[in-house]
Amino acid sequence: MQIRQANQGFNFDKYPTFEKDIDPQQRAWIEVSGKALETNVRELRSKLIKNCKLMAVVKADGYGHDAKVVSEYAIKGGASELGVATLKEGIRLRSSGIKKPILILGNIYTKRDLIISFKNDLMPTISSIRECLICNNIGKHYGLKFSLHLKVDTGMSRLGFECNKFVQQFEKIKSFENISIEGIYSHLSSADEHNSLDPKSNTQQQRQKFQELLRQINFDKNQNIKIHLANSAGMLLNKDLHFDMVRVGLSMYGYSPLEKPEKNLSLKPALFLKVKVAFIRIIDKGVRVSYGGKFVSSRKTKLAVLSIGYADGVPRNLSGKIKVIHNNKFYSQVGSITMDQMMVDITGSNEIKIGTTMVLLGSDGDKTISPVNWAKESNTIPWEILCSFKNRLPRVQVD
Ligand SMILES: *Cc1c(COP(=O)(O)O)cnc(C)c1O
Repeated sequence: MQIRQANQGFNFDKYPTFEKDIDPQQRAWIEVSGKALETNVRELRSKLIKNCKLMAVVKADGYGHDAKVVSEYAIKGGASELGVATLKEGIRLRSSGIKKPILILGNIYTKRDLIISFKNDLMPTISSIRECLICNNIGKHYGLKFSLHLKVDTGMSRLGFECNKFVQQFEKIKSFENISIEGIYSHLSSADEHNSLDPKSNTQQQRQKFQELLRQINFDKNQNIKIHLANSAGMLLNKDLHFDMVRVGLSMYGYSPLEKPEKNLSLKPALFLKVKVAFIRIIDKGVRVSYGGKFVSSRKTKLAVLSIGYADGVPRNLSGKIKVIHNNKFYSQVGSITMDQMMVDITGSNEIKIGTTMVLLGSDGDKTISPVNWAKESNTIPWEILCSFKNRLPRVQVD
């Protein structure tokens, strides 16, 4: 009788079947605040020297936030260019209708990929005469100019022309008629270190090397070539690193890479990691929890099983070291984090039920947990935490 009543009005034939029918907020998911991204970009732009542009770095799927959403809101906030790491990332943005200039920060070195880059209106980063020649030939073939940025190595020893040889090579590059040099740039290796304002620091040496190079090539400000050097840390460190454009990633997502950021800098985290309680159990004192039984209850304990694990991108070496938030209260994660689930001690709470949402990253009330906290606990950096989240976590845009 009761069953029949429960079934009344429920149309089983219309019962959802497909993947698209699954509620993205039913297991574990990432919420992305477009507003936070937009206001962060505005806030960062307000700190720039006059006429300095902001490139929003949206590589690695927008640091795990969804590159399309990040790009749209960064542009709303006033970003004038976008930076990606790979050809595919660039093409994806073009296919989603993004029209702003896009720079590929990684190295594209085959003719085939450079042609694809050209046809998608993406600017490659060029680190050698050989690559310049290929681009010039491509431009010539189409009777157009291939837009690109030249990169010089000032101390990172990754991509870029060697500084000492660049002055001579630049003379040759200037004679190529079918390329258009849109920028000359370099990348800082250590701007987030505490001594970066010290004249002997890596950062100041890189800046000096870069400025000396610009002087040697008789760089003329009227050439419409953008000079850029700073990442988030460099941008926040000092205005003498701003030049014509800054390339910001981490700070746009709401986290300062500097240990002591400027006091009146207001950044809002754009990412919230949330999960549902999938099960609740009560265990006695002295009972082992999770693989290896590394956690043993010291009292009768109420456990919530959360449906998220290391296969979603929560580092396993955070086991027993993190907390989750519900209703402005912290709860400790206990036992090993497993591939798909983890346990949380909710002893004493009557408000947490199966289906309750808990917050792993982000804010709830006045409590906040940031990827910076996770990074410290797991001996890594917030960049790695953000881009470790897997596609199994749906990205849901919330505002
Ligand atoms: C990733 C990257 C950036 C952005 O760095 P953040 O520290 O996240 O601001 C800037 N420039 C280059 C070349 C990069 O690869």
